[in-house]
Amino acid sequence: MTEQERRQLVSSDTESEKERENEIHTKSGRPQSGIWKHFDRGESKGDGHWEGTCQYCKKFYSRAKLSSLRAHLANNCKDVPEEWRRHFNYILVNNLNDLPTDEPLNESNIFTLTQKWKKEVKVTADQSELATIDASVIDETITLAFIMCGIPFRVINNPFFVNALKTLNPNYNIPSCKVLSEHLLDNEVAKVNKNIDEIIRSTSNITIGLDGWTTPDGKSIWCFVLLTSTRQEYLYKLGDFSNQSHTAEFLANQIEIVIDRINSKKILAIVSDNGANVASARHLICSKYKNILNVRCVAHCYNLISKDIIQHTFAERMIQRANRVVQFFKKSHKAAAILKEKIRQHGISDGGLKTYVETRWTTVHECVSSIVRLKSCLEEIRDNHSEVVTTPAILTILHSRGFFHDTQHLSKVLFPIKNAILAVEVTNSTLADAYIYLIKIASSIQNLPTDEYK
Ligand SMILES: [Zn+2]
Repeated sequence: MTEQERRQLVSSDTESEKERENEIHTKSGRPQSGIWKHFDRGESKGDGHWEGTCQYCKKFYSRAKLSSLRAHLANNCKDVPEEWRRHFNYILVNNLNDLPTDEPLNESNIFTLTQKWKKEVKVTADQSELATIDASVIDETITLAFIMCGIPFRVINNPFFVNALKTLNPNYNIPSCKVLSEHLLDNEVAKVNKNIDEIIRSTSNITIGLDGWTTPDGKSIWCFVLLTSTRQEYLYKLGDFSNQSHTAEFLANQIEIVIDRINSKKILAIVSDNGANVASARHLICSKYKNILNVRCVAHCYNLISKDIIQHTFAERMIQRANRVVQFFKKSHKAAAILKEKIRQHGISDGGLKTYVETRWTTVHECVSSIVRLKSCLEEIRDNHSEVVTTPAILTILHSRGFFHDTQHLSKVLFPIKNAILAVEVTNSTLADAYIYLIKIASSIQNLPTDEYK
């Protein structure tokens, strides 16, 4: 099959010749083999496609593409038996067609089974020399470039990009955005999973970290990260738990699935934030597996301390004022332009005013310290360009006695917390570092004024 034909087959949603043969055999009454052994086939769509439902997790496909079904079992299915997950991982990683086998691939049968099903796709590298290279190598390189550079997949269809690729190799048939973001991406995910499996096999003393968050479109996503004793981090699993209640029992079950897959003896500790449900899920796990340490995320703990500080009457008032000043300069283009010019004249580095974002833990310090850093510029604007400060309340704040002094005071208190959060977020920090930072934070809290500012 030529590269062109292969591409057409993939992009027109049909599968390769051998897989079509399989389909025909199945229709003619032969026992189902290959991917359809794992999916219940529903209504025919009349064009060689069927509805399909995963036999393990019951995920429904209204128009089941064989490549999507394989990718589901290799990368996404939460209930597929481990030996079949590895089987489909092998197929994706090695770019094979579906194998009509009742036995999952293992060390002994892998060679005989896979040889005759290998896809052979060549493309001429240089027309003058008739040298050929495997088109899947180019596919892989391009996919990796898109993923690692964070290039949106739709760029692959941009005529200028197509032109650039065609100049490099006129015979290479450029994949569509759909093929790139589904088929080729699935293959890369399978390769990463395979590498992680191999690393886990040769590693012990693994720490599991878990956390959940809500995406902009309202989904509840949970991630499970593995940390090795050599401080490497691997994203092991991402779960969409939107349709579940996140009780301690449910979370403990999910953690246990990960533990069972890895082997509980290899796991040293489990770390998470301290939400009531997560903390008791951690407790459930640690009372079942005595070898697993129950560890609370210290960065999250530091953030809770900083939240307590900014609820202090003095801090709350100062942050509110700092925020108003920042917001004003973000909105008023005239004031912002003068501020920018002042920053340039004073030769101040580290940029302009910073906004405080509650969910970004170090921004409270950045916001307050940016006011301190730009004190001279803000004072000059207050005294010489008061006409651009169109909101009287901002002028009042800038004129108020002690505003800059108090902001500086608060900035000093928040500084060790910001440092502590940044320090424990890097991979070479240890529990001893966490302890030292707690002492530093405690000493700076001593410096907070008492409630005289009410
Ligand atoms: Zn499934």
